[in-house]
Amino acid sequence: MSALELTQQLISRASVSPTDGGCQELLAARLTGCGFTIEKYPFGPVENFWARRGATGPLLCFAGHTDVVPTGPLEEWQSDPFTPTIRDGFLYGRGAADMKSGLAAMVTAAQKFVGELPHHRGSIAFLITSDEEGPSVDGTRRVVEILEARGEKIDWCVVGEPSSESECGDTIKVGRRGSLSGRLTVHGVQGHVAYPQFAENPVHKLAPALAELAAREWDQGDEHFQPTSFQVSNIAAGTGAPNVIPGELKARFNVRWSPRQTLDGLKATIEEILVRHGVRYTIDWFVSGLPFYTPPGRLLQAVSAAVKDVAGRQPKAATSGGTSDGRFIAPTGAQVVELGVVNASIHKVNEHCRVDDIERLQRMYQGVMGRLLAG
Ligand SMILES: [Zn+2]
Repeated sequence: MSALELTQQLISRASVSPTDGGCQELLAARLTGCGFTIEKYPFGPVENFWARRGATGPLLCFAGHTDVVPTGPLEEWQSDPFTPTIRDGFLYGRGAADMKSGLAAMVTAAQKFVGELPHHRGSIAFLITSDEEGPSVDGTRRVVEILEARGEKIDWCVVGEPSSESECGDTIKVGRRGSLSGRLTVHGVQGHVAYPQFAENPVHKLAPALAELAAREWDQGDEHFQPTSFQVSNIAAGTGAPNVIPGELKARFNVRWSPRQTLDGLKATIEEILVRHGVRYTIDWFVSGLPFYTPPGRLLQAVSAAVKDVAGRQPKAATSGGTSDGRFIAPTGAQVVELGVVNASIHKVNEHCRVDDIERLQRMYQGVMGRLLAG
């Protein structure tokens, strides 16, 4: 069965996060058939599996997710999101780009590679989850903890997320900025607008601190990373009445940070600014990922050469975009690179990928295996 056919089968198994919808069973069956040992790690509604072929190092791992985001308005889809449909050289369906084509390409590549070279060196593994688009608590993070606890080390990891911008393989991701969110509550004292001396207005208290935070240049980034950015995403205060000073303000913010910053340093700076402006507050912090960066090395070399073989040119190495599960694998010391199809339609209605790109991606993955494990 081709990678295209496998992608189609995966799309027809509806798997809105954290549902897996039978996708992993399909992938695991393919992998078992070519000598992989499967370990399933379900946590509540989340399905995960770890598959490994080989007992020695180095360990090359392919990582990905079977879950997809909701369809959005069905009437805006030109064909049913869970009925894979080919039109004008493109395959349409939810997950066509993010990232069922990537999963199909990596599993098919492994089948072909071990078929041609059953005694490859080292090991190949798959870390597959159905909790990437959701809270990402019971997915890759948990499986990585299990691997860490038993000392199983990933040397190289290829994440099949759609990394490309306009042509398959034009861009790979070699790192991501960190993501830190805060829920801020500013405490004031409610009162009558005509008697501000008996009240404490949390909107007025926060405003100068917020102006400083918003205007602050945290750093200028570096050759690999965009600058750190602080953004308020939500802000609310007020009782609805025009003559009442509110007693409380609630805000949410997010910081995307380059490795120029540290987690503790960011938190301390934000709190220092609030304190200096006399803001009485509480903050709940959420860290959804630390920044990571994979410098040039064996993996990057292998991926670039494999892409060039198929696409005819070297990929651009970027660190832009949102987070991915690479953030959970990189802290173990693994080199992590993301390579996948074009991401222009991900999370949108009429999600699609170029039909030819699925086989091209499969050849790229196979080229990575050959370069790292054929010796
Ligand atoms: Zn994805």
